[in-house]
Amino acid sequence: MRTWIDEISKNEGKKVELFGWVGSRRDHGKLIFIDLRDRTGVAQIVFFPKNKEVYESASRLRGEWVIRISGIVQRRPKGMENPNIVSGDFEIPADELQILAEAKTPPIAVDTNGTEIGEDLRMKYRYIDLRRERMKQNLIMRHRAIQFIRNFLSQRRFIEIETPILGKSTPEGARDYLVPARLHPGTFYALPQSPQQYKQLLMVAGIERYFQIARCFRDEDTRGDRQPEFTQLDVEMSFVSQEEILQLVEELFTSLVETVYPQKHFTFKPFVRLSYREVIEKYGTDKPDLRRDKNNPDELAFAFVVDFPMFEWKEKERRWDATHHPFTRPQQLGEESVDELRARLRDDTRNVLAHQYDFVCNGYEVGGGSIRTHEPDLLADVFKVMGHTQGGVEEKFGHLLEAFSYGVPPHGGIAPGIDRILMILQNEPNIREVIAFPKTGDGRDLLMAAPAAVDKKQLNELGVQLKQSKKPGLKQSKKN
Ligand code: ASP
Repeated sequence: MRTWIDEISKNEGKKVELFGWVGSRRDHGKLIFIDLRDRTGVAQIVFFPKNKEVYESASRLRGEWVIRISGIVQRRPKGMENPNIVSGDFEIPADELQILAEAKTPPIAVDTNGTEIGEDLRMKYRYIDLRRERMKQNLIMRHRAIQFIRNFLSQRRFIEIETPILGKSTPEGARDYLVPARLHPGTFYALPQSPQQYKQLLMVAGIERYFQIARCFRDEDTRGDRQPEFTQLDVEMSFVSQEEILQLVEELFTSLVETVYPQKHFTFKPFVRLSYREVIEKYGTDKPDLRRDKNNPDELAFAFVVDFPMFEWKEKERRWDATHHPFTRPQQLGEESVDELRARLRDDTRNVLAHQYDFVCNGYEVGGGSIRTHEPDLLADVFKVMGHTQGGVEEKFGHLLEAFSYGVPPHGGIAPGIDRILMILQNEPNIREVIAFPKTGDGRDLLMAAPAAVDKKQLNELGVQLKQSKKPGLKQSKKN
């Protein structure tokens, strides 16, 4: 039966069977030493000439070959321990060796942290790149963080629900990815920029507390902290106030960090809440870096920015747009009635504030959310301010307005970005380092060579005709 390398120290004197990759081989006089690596660590294996057959196989071993060995776990001689590896007090003299796969010399090193290697090569050979300790840790810690989040929310009566990937365009301010619908020529699905409308419909459905580790797709130019597809923790709750949502997020991330990253510390506890106006005046940005010591990799300055303006003026399009998204609820003033608020939307658009909040950490926007407008009339007014015609609203959002006419609970939510938060927690410079198979700066998957041209036959089936007659090409990648 297989023993993991991090279990070796519990097996002194016992026979173990280990599987993994050959890290390095050192020949010392007559002895051959190899570092054997599995997901959990590195172990030292020794081959003695007296075991002739095994010894001869061992002398063929090269880096990244995949092997199985067995042997009895022994304590290393005094002074020969290696505190840098999990099994460092032990070694295993091999009495059996089986070569499971040979390997060509890898095109990139795996025993460094990888920052010295060009990104194109790392992406093309991502399956090798992920063997390095740093990348493995990033994936393991990401898993732990997500696992923590799932448990935390499940204990608070949230249920995890998957929403469609093939859906209809929902405005989050980016361009949609479109998928031609073969069965309905000339029509398209849009990949979700977020599950926003579906999670609100789940509130109408009486779910009350929803979450999802949700994939979102936005066709925008990629940057260090952006990807065409990314993951967010999508949350929605019914019968909830803005402050209750902020408290939930604060409690979730405080306990996540305290449990999974105990070495980290918070600049603020509780997380500070600052108004949009205040941060713009004081810091000139709505995602200020509030750390006391920016050189300290373990400091986390989580904060909430609240009271955003509901609308922003788009000079190019000469119209008002929602600062967050149109489903965000405008704030009522004091005793103001909904009718009075509707009048103010029209007459004093610029000064209406929203029940919107951003979640920021160390100078990054790591999430955003809002209390939603659940009154169909008020929502229709918001769309009107944004320049939608009655017919346009009907066509794009008629289903939501109709749903809200069948008993909608007041609701709100938030969506912290998993990739960005993990990037910060893992002290990585960009989100590609915490995603198993990310796209390059210009949106390509170099490993699978996507996007790629498709057969004429496939296009015909989809009823799609390409505009250019040339073979579709890809621009040279530009780094960012
Ligand atoms: N859908 C929003 C976003 O992706 C989050 C929210 O309002 O809950 O930014």
